[in-house]
Amino acid sequence: MVPVFSPLEMIFVRGEGSRLWDQQGRDYIDFGAGVAVTSLGHGNPVLLKALQDQAAKLWHVSNYYTNEPALRLAKKLCEATFAEQVFFCNSGAEANEAALKLARKRGVDISPDKIEIVAFNGSFHGRTFFTVSVGGQPKYSSGMGPNPAGIVHVDYNDIEAARRVIGAKTCAVIVEPVVGEGGIIPAKPEFLKALRELCTANDAVLIYDEIQSGNGRTGALYAYMNGDVVPDILTTAKGIGGGFPIGVMLTTAAVGNHFKPGSHGSTFGGNPLACAVAEAAFDAIRDPALLASVRDKAERTAGRLRDMGARLGCFSEIRYQGLWIGCELSERFANRAGELIGKAAAHGVLALQAGPNVLRIATSLTITDDELDEGLRRLEAACAALTAG
Ligand SMILES: *Cc1c(COP(=O)(O)O)cnc(C)c1O
Repeated sequence: MVPVFSPLEMIFVRGEGSRLWDQQGRDYIDFGAGVAVTSLGHGNPVLLKALQDQAAKLWHVSNYYTNEPALRLAKKLCEATFAEQVFFCNSGAEANEAALKLARKRGVDISPDKIEIVAFNGSFHGRTFFTVSVGGQPKYSSGMGPNPAGIVHVDYNDIEAARRVIGAKTCAVIVEPVVGEGGIIPAKPEFLKALRELCTANDAVLIYDEIQSGNGRTGALYAYMNGDVVPDILTTAKGIGGGFPIGVMLTTAAVGNHFKPGSHGSTFGGNPLACAVAEAAFDAIRDPALLASVRDKAERTAGRLRDMGARLGCFSEIRYQGLWIGCELSERFANRAGELIGKAAAHGVLALQAGPNVLRIATSLTITDDELDEGLRRLEAACAALTAG
């Protein structure tokens, strides 16, 4: 394999709920959910049945035709959100690629120089060349020759900086309502409100990248529902498929109609298998009882992590929105999140990083209290090993 990843040594062969087993039969508590993807746990019987039922009927027909699961999922997404139109693809980066192309198309339809995209330092929007260029992490976009033009970056949560760069030439502002990969940093409500006002005043579209924050992760169906700002385009992926690859761009008819047949496309996007699984996952995630349980588990887990941080001196701050928790390492252990995650895996709990100084937890939304307790116990042992070493 091309050496873009450096996987840990263990190889998982089976999963159930929030537990995984490796080739040696060792078990791990999964606090990462495959980077916020297996939102309903491993081996979920409802998703398995949706996949098996659809697999027995029809896998793929292409976008020269539509299909029942895609139509059903599109309808449900539009009913549950601000959206009136959807575009299906296979990943988050592709959803953002569609959103950015649509915003550019709309901009140029209005005026040939309305092409600027405003994005934020530290944000992450995917790994295609356009999306790494829009993302605010130069390490992902540099060293490959010229980048796409017309992209401006300013600091996240900085209203004045945004005001300086958003103008008549702006076609889109793209923002994560909570910065995920960049450290679990929630936007200030007034920042999002200012972006909404600036976009409206300058006839630019506001794109919410909810690839990680969407689908129940924050305890709301989509993170925009936690506030009173409504975007023009919302992109999502990761958790909506429960582990089956799918990406979605949601938008209004006024914006979406700037695309015409042929403006954009995808071979696999909207395939019956992905849509059938995502429909089953979406039905489960939008259940208000599930969303309430996410908020409740999140609060308890964050509280216990705060205690742990205080007791062991490993964390200086715990930030969270739903079951999406960033543990900032204290000064003494600065930039050792990677090391801590290695220790955690050795102690049988899988966690994620969000930058060099943040341990990120994104459990499945359905994690049980027992799995949470066991995972926290193992994480505490790993933290103790870090602080003792
Ligand atoms: C993961 C992620 C992406 C990219 O999604 P892929 O499915 O890896 O292409 C984009 N934006 C955000 C906020 C993400 O967390």
